Amino acid sequence: MILLGAVADDVTGAADLCSTLVREGLRTVQVLGDARDLELPDVEAVVVALKSRTAPVDRAVRESTDALERLVALGARQILFKYCSTFDSTPEGNIGPVADALLDALGADITVVCPAYPENGRTVYRGHLFVGDVLLSESSMARHPLTPMTDANLVRVLGRQTHRPVSLVPYDVVADGAAAIVLRLDELRRAGVAYAVVDALDDAQLRAVGEACAGLRLVTGGSGVARGLPANFGTGAAAAAAHGRRLEAPPVDGPAVVLAGSCSQATNEQVERMAARYPAIKVDVADTGGLDALADAALAGLGDGAVLVYSTAPPDEVARVQELVGPEEASSRVESLLGELACRLVAGGARRLVLAGGETSAAVLQRLGVRALAVGDEIAPGVPWMTSLGEPRLVVALKSGNFGGPDFFLEALGVAG
Ligand code: ADP
Repeated sequence: MILLGAVADDVTGAADLCSTLVREGLRTVQVLGDARDLELPDVEAVVVALKSRTAPVDRAVRESTDALERLVALGARQILFKYCSTFDSTPEGNIGPVADALLDALGADITVVCPAYPENGRTVYRGHLFVGDVLLSESSMARHPLTPMTDANLVRVLGRQTHRPVSLVPYDVVADGAAAIVLRLDELRRAGVAYAVVDALDDAQLRAVGEACAGLRLVTGGSGVARGLPANFGTGAAAAAAHGRRLEAPPVDGPAVVLAGSCSQATNEQVERMAARYPAIKVDVADTGGLDALADAALAGLGDGAVLVYSTAPPDEVARVQELVGPEEASSRVESLLGELACRLVAGGARRLVLAGGETSAAVLQRLGVRALAVGDEIAPGVPWMTSLGEPRLVVALKSGNFGGPDFFLEALGVAG
């Protein structure tokens, strides 16, 4: 019987959540997609990673409710719907429709909406999401290739994705602590509100929000809110320290590959830093003919201990490609190219993979046949090393586009500085 079950709308976000749960004392495993037949190790939390953030709404809803069914069958006492701390979504969804379906399936009437993640610079004030010092709509997320976020008001953004009433638990209530938040949630529930966007500016407030969620069947948010959830089950950091909550993973050695499909500002910088020190092969989305030549160049690069393969590009280049072939075609080309190259590199001996970008990571892992991951040590906040369970035995790091400092790839390879 597990304590917490999570449905994550992308694979790098799922890795971030796993890391948080392990840190807070829950033995955790990440499962990729629908892996019903897979035998899981003895864990307290299962995070099902979907690729549903930008999928058609119907498919996102179906995959999410299927995952929920599985988690409920495993005995999960509480369900967390995990999305990005920058609320990545399109005007249609999928956060609203998926949350609606999960509420229905669980017979719950209210949940919180809490993407805040102060450790990574995401805070929510009066329902407005900030990235560092600027509003979400003024951050680089406004030009994301698939989910451009042009409105920072989450009550309004979610209001466009659901017919159910959305309201706010403002900062001053949150600052009064868990009991005050519980009272406000009760008031909102009685008023027929289904979604309470919750302000949070720092970790103490997030923990208070987590504590206030103890009685909710469904919680929604980023990894930040997950910090406060394990304590509700009577586990916690002390337990983590005492028992060591990481699943034992065998060491895996071998050359490393960094595959980057994220076009975030952070990944663009990370690519530049790594390309200055290692063989770097750029995938041309407009001309996909030279796969064999790309693969040969990448395989030759393994001899240097690490190689970078990337489609990462600045916003103007992404816009040009999208105009030329269409955004969906551009993404599907990137995913199939990087997936194929990953397969050939693993066949050629690569055993450590650093993947940058949520959609990209999911596509690559799927192509490699990876179905579940145990959680190891963190490289940077929200990015742990993970070890695949079953074959092929690989060590992977899954980095959300925006995460990590400029030297993240070099840090992951252990050669920063
Ligand atoms: P992030 O974590 O930054 O959101 P993702 O991998 O989830 O990264 O999303 C980036 C999207 O951009 C993917 O769908 C990817 O296929 C697409 N993409 C990557 N490189 C390019 C490019 N050069 N031109 C157009 N689209 C691209």
